[in-house]
Amino acid sequence: MSQENYMKGVALITGAASGIGRATAHTFVKEGCSRLVLGDLDYTGLQRVAEELKARNAAVRTVIVSVDVSSEEQVEALIDAGVQEFGAVHYAVNNAGITSNPRVRTHELPTSSWDQVVDVNLRGAWLCERAELRQMMKQEAELKTRTGAPQQRGAIVNISSLFGVMSHPTVGAYSATKAGILGMTRTDALAYAADGVRVNSVLPGFVKTPMVEESIRRGANYEELIGSVPVRRWGHPEEIAEAVVFLVGEKASLINGVSLVVDGGKQFVA
Ligand code: NAP
Repeated sequence: MSQENYMKGVALITGAASGIGRATAHTFVKEGCSRLVLGDLDYTGLQRVAEELKARNAAVRTVIVSVDVSSEEQVEALIDAGVQEFGAVHYAVNNAGITSNPRVRTHELPTSSWDQVVDVNLRGAWLCERAELRQMMKQEAELKTRTGAPQQRGAIVNISSLFGVMSHPTVGAYSATKAGILGMTRTDALAYAADGVRVNSVLPGFVKTPMVEESIRRGANYEELIGSVPVRRWGHPEEIAEAVVFLVGEKASLINGVSLVVDGGKQFVA
């Protein structure tokens, strides 16, 4: 399969209006994908991203959907909207997420804050993954691989976090959800492998996005953390997006169930 034929399936990204999700949409288009389903709470942000993608490649078609990923009905409506327009979903990226707020230790964390993070990050990712798997199981294995591997039905990447494998004293709820995503990913990687669906996760390190800028405004101090990352710098959203798009794409036909840390080496620092 030549590069010209690469990434001709339909991509779906949640949290696509900002940060890593927006960068992922751009990277899909750079790799040749021209049909994208974009979901986010922020509809105006999605409209902006859809215009940016069109400016990059006039052949790009997008379906943009206002969605709260913690709502079962809204997640199903997101997948339905994509399938109605494009007939399938091949590359799915479950990226929408929020941080712990307030940043406090467990004894001070209100139940409502725990519930909010779990609802969006874990229940949301699971609802999306289930809806995507239901759709992928209905569609033919039509994605040609570059590797000679059998054609595949689709692939999913769940966005976890470095905090899925490490932690910090004030991100307990967030860390719990991101570790949960790893378990969910490994389970479905096993469960759907023989059906031609791959499921992997990406664990970003510290990436300067609007989410992080908001936590800095609320008082979070990342200076020491960034100083302890071996590469001594913030990650760019595009560096996460490259890993995500590689993993859902046909180049990665034998990669299934991995937790790919993209963090500049921080996971190895004690
Ligand atoms: P971001 O810039 O805040 O982007 C997240 C997007 O998701 C926003 O547009 C947000 O909309 C949307 N969103 C939030 N809750 C949603 C919901 N319930 N339903 C649908 N959309 C929702 O954040 P980011 O840094 O790119 O984060 C993306 C993912 O990467 C998250 O899962 C995050 O946990 C993970 N991650 C980030 C970092 C990092 O350093 N940035 C590190 C590790 C993991 P609103 O703006 O309207 O809320």
